[in-house]
Amino acid sequence: MDTTAQEKEERGAQKLDGARVAAEIKREVGAEVELLRAEHEVTPRLATVLVGDDAASAVYVRNKIRSCEELGIGSEHLSLPAETTTAQLLELIESLNARDDVDGILVQLPLPKGVDESAVIEAIDPEKDVDGFHPVNVGRMMQRRPALLPCTPAGVVELLVREGVRVSGARACVVGRSNIVGRPVAELLLQRDATVTITHSRTRDLPAVTREADILVVAIGRAGFVRSEHVKQGAVVVDVGMNRVTNETQVRELFGDGAEKRLKALRERGYTLVGDVHPAEVERVAGRLTPVPGGVGLLTVAMLMKNTVTAARRRLTGK
Ligand code: NAP
Repeated sequence: MDTTAQEKEERGAQKLDGARVAAEIKREVGAEVELLRAEHEVTPRLATVLVGDDAASAVYVRNKIRSCEELGIGSEHLSLPAETTTAQLLELIESLNARDDVDGILVQLPLPKGVDESAVIEAIDPEKDVDGFHPVNVGRMMQRRPALLPCTPAGVVELLVREGVRVSGARACVVGRSNIVGRPVAELLLQRDATVTITHSRTRDLPAVTREADILVVAIGRAGFVRSEHVKQGAVVVDVGMNRVTNETQVRELFGDGAEKRLKALRERGYTLVGDVHPAEVERVAGRLTPVPGGVGLLTVAMLMKNTVTAARRRLTGK
């Protein structure tokens, strides 16, 4: 190994700075909010809907409301009991669709069992679908027409581009094929001219496939699943996963020498947030890596703010 490679290995992967990029996007969105206010005397407004009492969902919604406040976007929060029926939720969405002062509607997923998630997503006016999950927006995205793009996938691409990662021509591999992350992120990388492979739970010899990737995006929902054997030396690794780990032994295994801080969080809060990538192992192999927390999660919120302001501008100007 030459000196530079050795130094690099000792230093570990360079961070893909989600906090920096999210702050940059939020600054742009804040300026757009000001402009809408000056030009149209209108404040964009987001309605958030939370059904049930899932602790993680409550945290995500709180962060979204806080970001609205930060950027001067109006918000209102509707909290419904876990027993809410599909019909009741559809009625609420209908009333939000009809309101002129609501630009974006965000229904936090997952919904409690028994609620028809597809019916709820399809009930949202596509022009107010700031999560970008409505089939109309998904269809527009697939046809490369203007659309409200899904926040996490769009955030991943913004992060790569704004951190100077060359996407065009790169071999990208996406692990996971969900409607909300895996499939759309693969499509958006393809639109940026990456050569994309999508992998999933039935992929044969996953490490052999993922090791081909210059850019590896992981969204599977299993703490620390992707190990050094999955990653090509120097690859750019984007960890979308957000898993609550509550076990001390697992935290020590995942973080090695850096475990102390995480163990402190675990003792204070009862959990620590871990991605789908094994941090201690992949840090040594990857060229660049997103931290969890402080990576993709921040971008998701920033892109939601961006979609809300885009929806407001389109409603006001048709553009
Ligand atoms: P999901 O709907 O449960 O989908 C998981 C995907 O991973 C599926 O396609 C599944 O394959 C695949 N998978 C599962 N085990 C696998 C394995 N051993 N090898 C290869 N593929 C495997 O999950 P999701 O909603 O996409 O979320 C994924 C992760 O991202 C979660 O940790 C979630 O919390 C996180 N997330 C984060 C943000 C953010 O803002 N940072 C936003 C959304 C989600 P099959 O299709 O074959 O079953």
